[in-house]
Amino acid sequence: MNSTTASDVIAPHLHSLVAGEWQAGRGGAVPLLDKFTTRPVAEVPVCDAAQVAQAVAACAAAVAGAPGPFERGEILERAGRAIEARREALAATMRIEAGFPAVDAHNEVSRCINTLRLCAEEARRLCGEMVPMEGAPQQAGRLGFTLRVPLGVVCAITPFNSPLNVVAHKIGPALAAGNAVVLKPSLHTPASANLLAEALLEAGLPPGLLAVLHGGAEVGQALLDHPDIDFYAFTGSTEVGRHIQAHVGLRRSQMELGSIAHVVVDASADLARAVPRIVGAGYRKAGQVCTSVQVLLVHRQRLDEATTLLRERVAALPYGDPQAPDCIVGPLISEAAAQRVQAWLAEAQAQGARCLVGGERQRAVLSPALMTDTTPAMRLRHQEVFGPVLSVVPFDDYDDALRQVNGTPFGLAAGVFTNDMAHAMKAVRTLRAGSVFINEASSARVDQMPFGGSKASGFGREGPAWAVREMSEERLVTFST
Ligand code: NAD
Repeated sequence: MNSTTASDVIAPHLHSLVAGEWQAGRGGAVPLLDKFTTRPVAEVPVCDAAQVAQAVAACAAAVAGAPGPFERGEILERAGRAIEARREALAATMRIEAGFPAVDAHNEVSRCINTLRLCAEEARRLCGEMVPMEGAPQQAGRLGFTLRVPLGVVCAITPFNSPLNVVAHKIGPALAAGNAVVLKPSLHTPASANLLAEALLEAGLPPGLLAVLHGGAEVGQALLDHPDIDFYAFTGSTEVGRHIQAHVGLRRSQMELGSIAHVVVDASADLARAVPRIVGAGYRKAGQVCTSVQVLLVHRQRLDEATTLLRERVAALPYGDPQAPDCIVGPLISEAAAQRVQAWLAEAQAQGARCLVGGERQRAVLSPALMTDTTPAMRLRHQEVFGPVLSVVPFDDYDDALRQVNGTPFGLAAGVFTNDMAHAMKAVRTLRAGSVFINEASSARVDQMPFGGSKASGFGREGPAWAVREMSEERLVTFST
């Protein structure tokens, strides 16, 4: 697709949704790049402070008139179908603004549809519970139960690397629970979020219940400063998460933050199962997934075998132009991001690491890299890489491998390949991570799971059944006569 066509795909979807109408942002404009060519395809008009204030006020006013649970379910269900109808437009959009190859873009669309369907189910069944009042002394005849009530206005701030499904994981549960939502998507990927909003409006969502505000940190900051927002749902870097948490005070929040995901390959592991999963989870979306395998700890008895298999697979990964039908690894989100990762690779090599495959850069594309002989002192091991790079690290003692997994400040997800039940149980009991996957890689999410982190990877749980609870509160009611 040439840049004129790219612009045709993206340009109609760059306005902000403010108080129920699509408005051009009045706070200036930033270029939107095709992430593979790195050329601009459109300008994104960003919102000014007055538009932020107008959007939040409209959302706050709309909460009282939100549809009831059944209708919310119907709207979310229809929105899933409206997304399916936009599948090709969304895939083309994500190829351009996120650099996703077809496989990643279509996966994102399919998962978004499933997420909306799960949210529809939660909308219909969200309820409180009976409280056994009469179990207390002198309470005979008193009836107690809880209602689940919406919080009010939920602010969702989202990253570039899942421009549709993570956005659906914020908006869907918030609406299912009866809230209004102000969304600030990543400035790298505004059009995907707009297509989701368009699907929701087409599905019958009352326009005032959803705002989409395009902008960067200034718009984000204006949202943090706004007193009428009741909940902040954030997915992004740990650094920005800390900033948000420091600002929101007593308001509730959910923080889905960064990570350095580890996978352990035990001496008893089934490598035929493990290797394809590890490569899939290490390099999909060019390694720009919060749970991408970054450090692979392999028992020394299996090291040569595992390294040979990994090397063959990684070398065979088609990479480069996401428009190529067989492309698996597309560009990183920017040339600067690819340069940063390339610099970390060079720094590690200067300190004795070896690159077995890949590591060459052209603009924002970095060929999938497999590293060995890295040390914990290298940035490849102790900072989030967020690129197509995996370090293979041998271990001799299983307990030591688990200690290494727990040694990072993060704790989002970990994978352990083992056929030893005692080792599996030990991992489950001792790893401090939001998810521990036995015989899956660290990136093995399905959308109905509770998903979230511990330590510097954040707190709170996504997954519609959990998120609707985060985004609502219990009100106790008792009846006495
Ligand atoms: P980022 O933190 O740079 O940006 C995320 C969002 O925050 C964007 O919308 C951005 O505009 C906004 N933002 C930036 N500064 C802000 C401020 N001062 N106030 C308010 N908002 C502000 O993250 P990114 O580069 O878009 O995404 C990559 C990061 O996201 C990685 O660290 C990755 O691990 C993390 N991530 C985590 C999960 C998870 O579920 N834990 C999922 C996906 C991505």
